[in-house]
Amino acid sequence: MTNINVESCKSLLAWMTDHVQKVVVLTHANPDGDALGSSLGLHVVLQHAGFQSTVIYPTEFPHLVPGMKDYRDWMVYEQNEAAANKIMEESDLLFYLDFNDPKRVGKVKKKLDQLKKMVVLIDHHPLPIIDTPFLFSDTQVSSTAELVYDFVVKMGWGAMLDQAGATALLTGIIADTASFSHNAKRSELYRAVSELIAKGADQLKIQKSLFNTNSADRLRLLGFALSEKMVIFPEYHAAYISLTREELKRFNFKIGDTEGFVNYPLSIEGIVFSTFFMENEDKIKISFRSTGSFAANEFSAQHFGGGGHHNAAGGESRQSLKEAVDKWVALLPQYLADLKKESQQ
Ligand code: 5GP
Ligand code: MN
Repeated sequence: MTNINVESCKSLLAWMTDHVQKVVVLTHANPDGDALGSSLGLHVVLQHAGFQSTVIYPTEFPHLVPGMKDYRDWMVYEQNEAAANKIMEESDLLFYLDFNDPKRVGKVKKKLDQLKKMVVLIDHHPLPIIDTPFLFSDTQVSSTAELVYDFVVKMGWGAMLDQAGATALLTGIIADTASFSHNAKRSELYRAVSELIAKGADQLKIQKSLFNTNSADRLRLLGFALSEKMVIFPEYHAAYISLTREELKRFNFKIGDTEGFVNYPLSIEGIVFSTFFMENEDKIKISFRSTGSFAANEFSAQHFGGGGHHNAAGGESRQSLKEAVDKWVALLPQYLADLKKESQQ
């Protein structure tokens, strides 16, 4: 764990002053509210600080940040590979935001492997495996957006954070804490939030943009998932929801529609581990959520090739949906002691 310290910011600033004109900000594939908010917030500041900045998102995403289309100079890699590759080749510095493992950028990884560029990592996932002298990683912090705020201030760029930048960063914070309901214990978080609001970020607008943009289809899919597809194992304090491709199609599924579904089973008294399985074109995408001591990221890393945070992780399976679910169910007995312990907290 490396906190953002003034010394490393000073040396980065000196290096950037001498070597950097063009910057690329990159996030993980399927960017969520924190990836989008942290990247746009940093991007706006970099532009005001005189750098030529471009944000590259590996894949398409729902427009969670209010006024997303009014932010300039961002692109989706899978929609414009050639142009994005050229911009990365011509850049002097890459910022990696909200991921700890180069595998998380999807198809962009192939390009990154060819580039020999200086990288700055700003992230809050455990155990980053990205090789750079500028590693700003802290798992105690609510979100990458909060880390970006801290970074911007320590770089001496606080004055460059305008209303658009503050809005983006507060979106990241509210998204990753689910409106201050987890990872939100530290008083520093609220100092950052206070500053962002003072700069004009409108928290009600952000809440609306993040959470009140349901389509009728999405709400019906959620109703179906909860009433027909949620399976509860009270004896293991665990539950899962699974959706087939056919079921998703029936509700006109769009990217982002199942965001947050995995959290609902955790609101059942006594449930401490929840898993959501979704059948994609070529694989099963899996989300894991847990409470307290139960390590969702270890469960995912050991059995479903993924990882993430202690209480919020992702993974995948190349088996059929049924096989993946059966595997998960069969694993529960060996976790009984851990699940029970957490349920008694
Ligand atoms: P989600 O369930 O929302 O897709 O992901 C939950 C958390 O786990 C996010 O912080 C995300 O970055 C991380 N995550 C999701 N999928 C993977 C994965 O395949 N590998 C790793 N290392 N982290 C993941
Ligand atoms: Mn995050």
